[in-house]
Amino acid sequence: MFLYRVAATQFAVSDVPGRPLRSLLSDPFRTSPEAWELGGALESSAPLAPLAPIIPGKIVGIGRNYKEHVKELSSPMPAEPLIFLKAPSSLIGPGEAVVLPPESERVEHEGEIAVVVGRRLKRATEAEARRAVFGITAVCDVTARDLQRKDPTFARAKSFDTFCPLGPAVWVGADPEDLEVITRVNGVERQRGHTREMTWGIVDLLVYTSRMMTLEPGDLILTGTPAGVGFPKRTFLAVGDRIDAEIAEIGKLSVEVGA
Ligand code: ZN
Repeated sequence: MFLYRVAATQFAVSDVPGRPLRSLLSDPFRTSPEAWELGGALESSAPLAPLAPIIPGKIVGIGRNYKEHVKELSSPMPAEPLIFLKAPSSLIGPGEAVVLPPESERVEHEGEIAVVVGRRLKRATEAEARRAVFGITAVCDVTARDLQRKDPTFARAKSFDTFCPLGPAVWVGADPEDLEVITRVNGVERQRGHTREMTWGIVDLLVYTSRMMTLEPGDLILTGTPAGVGFPKRTFLAVGDRIDAEIAEIGKLSVEVGA
């Protein structure tokens, strides 16, 4: 099942990505998906313009979770998952524009698999963490690479407004161990990553993160980016670029880089 957000607090679902969409009457985080109450079909005359599918309370990022990406950054492989926080105000939906801030000369895409938490987790066991996977969506963890290298924390580099395109839908019931994300810039494939290439899998990341911060329904974990970001090819994002992060079963998260 695929969950969309079509207005501030209005969700809709479909069995296959896109149409036909039916409005969701239940709160998606208070009712289990099997018990969701559905309303009528949404008006089909207008093109679907989904918003970011959820509004997370917090956005947790994971750095260097794919070995090939660690190599291209010439960074050491962390001994434990490398956690950072990305401001929730950086969130945008599909079709919105990423805005390049004047403080950075090197903004890069990072197409990733994002996990949506469905249950509260605090020092979770593996079984609890597995049950708490609500669904999967695509994200672009846009990063000001020059500021990331300059600052002792990632907060600024990761948190500019518009730096977190998300969507278009949450794939509810996805297998968290069998997912692939492909990212293209201007139609050219730049990144391709599968969950089996992650150093820490999705369930591991939930267990680990829940040791230091309680995870709440709707929280988002960005699971790390595969190789193929701008560095070291020195092709950074520029105004007019189009980024597509695609998880085949869900479809494309497409955004443009605006002025
Ligand atoms: Zn990232």
